[in-house]
Amino acid sequence: MPFPFDNSYARLPGAFFAAVEPTPVSAPVMIRLNHVLATQLGLDVARLDSPEGLAILSGNKLADGSEPVAMAYSGHQFGGFSPQLGDGRAILLGEVVREDGVRHDIQLKGSGPTPFSRRGDGRSALGPVLREYIVSEAMAALGVPTTRALAAIASGDSVRREALTPGGVFARVAQSHIRVGTFQWFAARKDHINLKVLADYVIDRHYPGARHDEHPYRALLCGVIERQARLIAHWMQLGFIHGVMNTDNTSVSGETIDYGPCAFMDSYHPAKRFSSIDHQGRYAFASQGPIAHWNLTRFAETLLPLLNDDTDQAVAEAESALDTFTGIHQMELERRFTAKIGIEDGNADDGTLLEQLLSAMAEGGADFTLVFRHLSDALDSGNDDNVTSLFDQPKAITAWLSRWRTRLHNVDRHQAVALMRRMNPVFIPRNHRIEEAIQAGNNGDFAPFHRLNEVLQHPFAEQAVFAEYELAPAPDEVVHATFCGT
Ligand code: AMP
Ligand code: MG
Repeated sequence: MPFPFDNSYARLPGAFFAAVEPTPVSAPVMIRLNHVLATQLGLDVARLDSPEGLAILSGNKLADGSEPVAMAYSGHQFGGFSPQLGDGRAILLGEVVREDGVRHDIQLKGSGPTPFSRRGDGRSALGPVLREYIVSEAMAALGVPTTRALAAIASGDSVRREALTPGGVFARVAQSHIRVGTFQWFAARKDHINLKVLADYVIDRHYPGARHDEHPYRALLCGVIERQARLIAHWMQLGFIHGVMNTDNTSVSGETIDYGPCAFMDSYHPAKRFSSIDHQGRYAFASQGPIAHWNLTRFAETLLPLLNDDTDQAVAEAESALDTFTGIHQMELERRFTAKIGIEDGNADDGTLLEQLLSAMAEGGADFTLVFRHLSDALDSGNDDNVTSLFDQPKAITAWLSRWRTRLHNVDRHQAVALMRRMNPVFIPRNHRIEEAIQAGNNGDFAPFHRLNEVLQHPFAEQAVFAEYELAPAPDEVVHATFCGT
């Protein structure tokens, strides 16, 4: 069997999903199959890379052992609650268990309508498929917990968006696709029986330690809070902006999920946002911590009936768990950012030092990725020119550089440089490069897409042949807005 399916979600009560099969596409073509990931998952790569594999991954053939379902979920979108969302253009084919025992979902995105499609067509344009492939695999290579890309397929059909555009199917792998919105689905329906079934399922699958806790549901809440607090700090270390941090796009496993109008910043500004639909900047770069806390508060609300029979007591428990978020998030943020400037054991003054750097970067329109990477070179060589040239006004950064060197006076220089090079990537999936890959892909040329994926497999390593991919966009290449394109 190409997939040794072992399905647990499809065993849950019927209220969790709708059984639905993928709808075939006209003329599927494999654009990229992730051999490394397939091997890690224990899949039969040769069979996946055959016409049969293509038929399965495009939704044209059901694999043996597959029990396809569309998962039910609700969600707060831009602050407003939608009780009825669910997989409108995604179908979970089944689960496989990796050699180390970790269970993974195999899901198709863009595989046709489901009972949750509402007015949508259940399809995906090719652009978002290529985008999710590039960015999710880059995030994995950068070390960030994330869903993965198993395959990108051109469907041979057109989909109607603003205009007719080529369609695609994306095969996604996740530790699970359970979202805060999945809990909200049952909470909104006051279905406390299935809410408990879900919580127990998530504990078994993602937080097995909580099972033995005196208060398993509180331990679950604390576990989800901790993973989110760390995850968002990890995003910020890399200048990543998710763009649609709705509760239905918040995974309870702690993985980054649902890459829509996401972006890595070029020039730094805390208020940066790219999503064309995020008019208020709700999901702007520096708002991501507070927004995650807001999303987790919605999660905690769903758990109240499980936390304590006494409502006041349940609320108190939820609040004390939520209060841990900011401490964990801030500590993780400080640890990551001080490491970015070569400091392993931060002290109380390092926050100010970082603030001064970030202010100078925001004022000077400096490129986030290049500043940090070039700082490691400057520390190594003693030459600051490549750093100062990134700022509109070099004076502000010159003063900072001398304060920084004073701070690092007693630190082993080689260790500091090595630390910085582990924390500061050379390559990120820059927006203009993604756009370039998508535009070429829409015209049937996937070479830029493949090349970008190659570059991003080793984001922390200097690769002279790919030097042009380090560069910030030229003024006419800057991408100002990204689109969901669903
Ligand atoms: P997303 O923008 O991916 O977070 O999706 C939000 C909701 O809209 C989810 O319930 C999706 O399944 C649904 N959705 C998005 N695009 C489509 C589409 N083309 N057809 C059907 N449902 C869709
Ligand atoms: Mg979503």
